[in-house]
Amino acid sequence: MQNLLIDTHAHIYGPEYEDDFDAMMSRAAEAGVFHIVAVGADIPSSRAAAALAASRDGISCAVGIHPHDAAGVTDDCYNIIRQLVTECDKVVAIGEIGLDFYRDRSPRHLQEEVFRRFIRLARELTLPIIVHDRDAHDRIMQILVEERASEVGGVLHCFSGDLEMAKRCVDLGFLVSIPGTITYPKSDQLQQVVKGIKIEQMLVETDAPYLTPVPHRGTRNEPAYVRLTAERVAALKGLSLEDVGRITSLNAQRLFGIGVEPESGIIAYRIRNALYLNITNRCSNRCSFCAKFTDFTVKGHKLLLDHEPTYPEVMDAIGDPTGCDEVVFCGYGEPLLRLDLLKDVARDLKAMGMKTRINTDGQANIVYGRNILPELAGLIDTVSVSLNAADADTYSRLCSTPFGADGFAAVCDFLREAPAHIPHVVASAVTVPGLDIEAVARLARELGVEFRVREYAEVG
Ligand code: SF4
Repeated sequence: MQNLLIDTHAHIYGPEYEDDFDAMMSRAAEAGVFHIVAVGADIPSSRAAAALAASRDGISCAVGIHPHDAAGVTDDCYNIIRQLVTECDKVVAIGEIGLDFYRDRSPRHLQEEVFRRFIRLARELTLPIIVHDRDAHDRIMQILVEERASEVGGVLHCFSGDLEMAKRCVDLGFLVSIPGTITYPKSDQLQQVVKGIKIEQMLVETDAPYLTPVPHRGTRNEPAYVRLTAERVAALKGLSLEDVGRITSLNAQRLFGIGVEPESGIIAYRIRNALYLNITNRCSNRCSFCAKFTDFTVKGHKLLLDHEPTYPEVMDAIGDPTGCDEVVFCGYGEPLLRLDLLKDVARDLKAMGMKTRINTDGQANIVYGRNILPELAGLIDTVSVSLNAADADTYSRLCSTPFGADGFAAVCDFLREAPAHIPHVVASAVTVPGLDIEAVARLARELGVEFRVREYAEVG
């Protein structure tokens, strides 16, 4: 099984796993789980998690004290946790720490005091935090802000808040971790969270041995079952399991500093069941909303090219595409800037019976000084053009076209002309704050093409 998933929260050092630990690890590997974060909840379990991580590849750990035990925390406890971090280079976070106002096993004021001190310790050690929050949403958020927890970031594990809270967490620089409860029938609120925030802001976890997902609910949980959670997230997000695995694993690797990031310069990459081709990073425009200016990653794929690929390199990267629904010329650049290569590759793809699409800024005709659309006839099935504005001023402001007012007119002309040569033509607009999307939709209709809205800050 390929390396697919990271279980970012599991208590696998306990007596529940004594009898079948190796078999449990084998089942995790068979399910595609290639890394587990073993999370301590008190001093003995933090020691056990650190010892386990030190002894096994593919396991790292977090050390901390659960709010249930806050009443017993002494100065010595902080020193022991600090020492564990110093001694074990596989400690990747301080946790789990937080507040539990559901069971109230320790007085609330002591829970808060301990939570604050652990956040300060995490900042001192520059480690992210893993936060337990049960029925304490408002106090958790307030303390995270007051203690400047965003300096180190972290994750709200087994997230139990609503979508508004999830968005506040994300704004604070925190990730939201989705547990197996997402598979339960009564998980409407968590489903709204999964649908409402980006997959780039999520982790998946088991919290093993607790919160076992369906269909194993009622039995002991274990890391292999994180796959069931990821499958449910994939269904809710309209992504493939591989997409969810790749993206949430990258999120975990970046938060906890574990493993290696994927290679840059990928030429062909999969999202859902489409194959995307990244053939240039050059653009005719410089759009204000473009995510590539902060991070060249799209759905877990790193698209920064060190050179523009040749025809053999592109064909080699494509391999056998016949299982894919379509092949899309896209990437973090304007594919029609490589018109000749695109035509050669599209010709081969059509010979293989593939559907083809181009995502473009629609300025090719002004760039080349001729109408290139007839050259795409028979090679491209769909063209999706970023219209993005209903007037030239707005277009110039958002897209920084080098062609001034002529740039917007060229995009409109391209859209008007395209249906004569390409069977399916779509104009799109990104929901940039303040943009009159309805006006753009009206213009698309006047130009005689279909219109599609693309979510702001959502790529791929
Ligand atoms: S055309 Fe696309 S890739 Fe280029 S700057 Fe604009 S949004 Fe980014």
